[in-house]
Amino acid sequence: MEKRVAPRGTVEPRRGKRGGGARESLEWAVSFAGRDLDELREGDWLNLRDDLARFFGGVWRTPGELTGFTTRPNPLPQKAPQPEILRIQREARRLLERAATPLRAGGDVLKAAHGFRLAADWSIEPVAGIPLLSAIGSLRDLFLTRLLFLLAQEGLANVKLCPAPGCGRPFWRAGRRKYCSSRCTFQGWLSTSEKGKTRPKREAKAARERRKYKRRLAERKGGTDAR
Ligand SMILES: [Zn+2]
Repeated sequence: MEKRVAPRGTVEPRRGKRGGGARESLEWAVSFAGRDLDELREGDWLNLRDDLARFFGGVWRTPGELTGFTTRPNPLPQKAPQPEILRIQREARRLLERAATPLRAGGDVLKAAHGFRLAADWSIEPVAGIPLLSAIGSLRDLFLTRLLFLLAQEGLANVKLCPAPGCGRPFWRAGRRKYCSSRCTFQGWLSTSEKGKTRPKREAKAARERRKYKRRLAERKGGTDAR
């Protein structure tokens, strides 16, 4: 189970510290998209719903500092049924895979939205004197809309797809980490060592066999000559 920490994301728009809450929100959403939900126990599901609520509760300044952005999902994240959370995870993963795959021309993170149907009722609501851009919609639509906003604002520097064979899931890259998990780090190490080390070994063995064969051939020849 995850260690519980003080609530991330705030209800107050942050001033000065641009993207403070946004970065944390994006990091959480990316980890959520890559997470194994099959292994969750009942208590973990409760924690996940709390984290989801925190993700939706976060308000951050948009890039131009003109306004904040907030969402009111229905149902509330705390009441989201498991199949709905699983569906949101699948779609978030699909969106992140597209966003993190380098585009051939005119790379733009928002192009990842192509083909997604996202509906919301938008309005401007002043909160504490700051006009907030507010969206009302389904949990799924608003989650993906939020994710797109976050990607557009924070960029893809830390959003990676795991290169381990058979994985490919999105993960938040902190530092030099190359794979999504220690399991994948091992898988990746195995596959590179197979490519890098086993082949020369195999080639060396083949060369030894060739030399042996030639020697035998020469010996046989020598034998007939002597006769
Ligand atoms: Zn992986």
